[in-house]
Amino acid sequence: MLRKKVKELKEQRDKAKGEERVVRHTMQSLRAVWMKIGLEKVDTHKGIMVNALLDSGATGLFMDKRFVEKNGFRMERLKRPVKVTNVDGTHNNRGDIMHEVECNVYYKGHKERMRFDVCNLGRTEVILGMPWLVAHNPEIDWEKGEVKLTRCPPWCGKSSEESRKERCKERIRGLEEEKAIS
Ligand SMILES: [Zn+2]
Repeated sequence: MLRKKVKELKEQRDKAKGEERVVRHTMQSLRAVWMKIGLEKVDTHKGIMVNALLDSGATGLFMDKRFVEKNGFRMERLKRPVKVTNVDGTHNNRGDIMHEVECNVYYKGHKERMRFDVCNLGRTEVILGMPWLVAHNPEIDWEKGEVKLTRCPPWCGKSSEESRKERCKERIRGLEEEKAIS
């Protein structure tokens, strides 16, 4: 069961690395969770808060084209356009992905640099899909719609800081014990 789940996640991750993206809108779904995140432009360092949709059905990180243009994010042209497919495998007629946006993303003391594919998302501004979910493996309370980053990998900025603090605490504890013995 677990092995199957891991296999599925790996497949989704590999698919996300490929040339195609699946953009799914689960806006009406109860399984959609919204996260208030901060986006910071890498060139001007100006920031903006946005409600991002956490969607396990999306195989990438996406930013809406109109949102990008309205807020003046710098778009970089992709070497090769990325095809967008719908969940049923048909070609998404809203057009291929031609650009990406790089920016810093802030969420509850978490900061990371991400690249978003720019496409038309309708009323949604930002979608965090499977690659982000796999990377951070967040704790999600689907009922309350809460996202907690408690299981981040060692390379994640936040957790490395925490583990540093933890190591520091352990070191102090160790020193105190040594003192108690002598
Ligand atoms: Zn993390």
